[in-house]
Amino acid sequence: MANIGYLQVNRHCNNACHFCSNPSNWNNITYGRWIELIDEFIKNNYSWVIFTWWEPTLSSDLPKWISYCKQKWLWSRIISNGMMCASYDYTKRLADSWLELVHFSVYSCHAKVHDFLTDTPWSWLKLMKSITNALKCGIRVQINTVINHYNEDHLDKTVKFLVKHFPPIRHFVWNNLDAEMMRKTDVAMTTLPDFNKFKPSLKNAMDFLEWNWRTFRAEKMPLCYIRGYERCSTETRKIIKNEERLIYFLDFREQIREVDFYHEKLSECQQCDLNTICSGIYEWKKYFSYVKVYPQKVSKEEIEKIIKRTNID
Ligand code: SF4
Repeated sequence: MANIGYLQVNRHCNNACHFCSNPSNWNNITYGRWIELIDEFIKNNYSWVIFTWWEPTLSSDLPKWISYCKQKWLWSRIISNGMMCASYDYTKRLADSWLELVHFSVYSCHAKVHDFLTDTPWSWLKLMKSITNALKCGIRVQINTVINHYNEDHLDKTVKFLVKHFPPIRHFVWNNLDAEMMRKTDVAMTTLPDFNKFKPSLKNAMDFLEWNWRTFRAEKMPLCYIRGYERCSTETRKIIKNEERLIYFLDFREQIREVDFYHEKLSECQQCDLNTICSGIYEWKKYFSYVKVYPQKVSKEEIEKIIKRTNID
């Protein structure tokens, strides 16, 4: 079981993504509090800590924290927008502090689409430089993509572009948009995805990655939208493997221990054979009531195969 702790280290950013799920409150974690939290992860046998939101590279203490984790045998990774790592010297500092892994958030293979979504000119170009720098410095790179209205028709082109230009990248993660915490501006509300539109491009993207020996995950994704790749749903994996997540927020939520990975289910889900291993639809009533579900007929043998494959993958 691979338990992962998420740690918000600051709540400000040098991008302004329309759908950002953690709006700024300018809070920063204190050094003392940070040590307490890391020691708690270690005590609870967590294997990874992820430094995240808004943008961990804006914390000057980041290299120091990464070194501390390394000394305590806790693997560390960051989720980053790739603005700071456009500087080779900065990336080298992270590598020298023994950063294992960075997840860069790439929204599209098209610079225009990415820059529009981040609301930050030249952010795509900087991100490409960051990926290049991280790979040069020997830091493992993975890609996170938020699925939204503006990239839903070319998720496949984006992964093909990244695999072609950055062959060492082996793992990709799609996060279905989290409308709950994002700013409710008019532009932000236009980013909600059309599930039936992203379905074929996501399927092509998954097929392409599978054929090219890459691995991938999809978060907040009902299983009827990724048939054949159920084992790649992050929630299904946690349900099957009985995992938990500990998340420290720099806002009113403070600390959440996630052990329940089911979202909302529709009445049709009762007829679906995947019901017990599917998380359903996140925030269906509030934001995604236009999304339809497609109950699946699946044999017991196939479900057993899915569970077996998930456990060994
Ligand atoms: S019909 Fe419901 S339970 Fe079945 S895969 Fe779709 S969302 Fe999941």
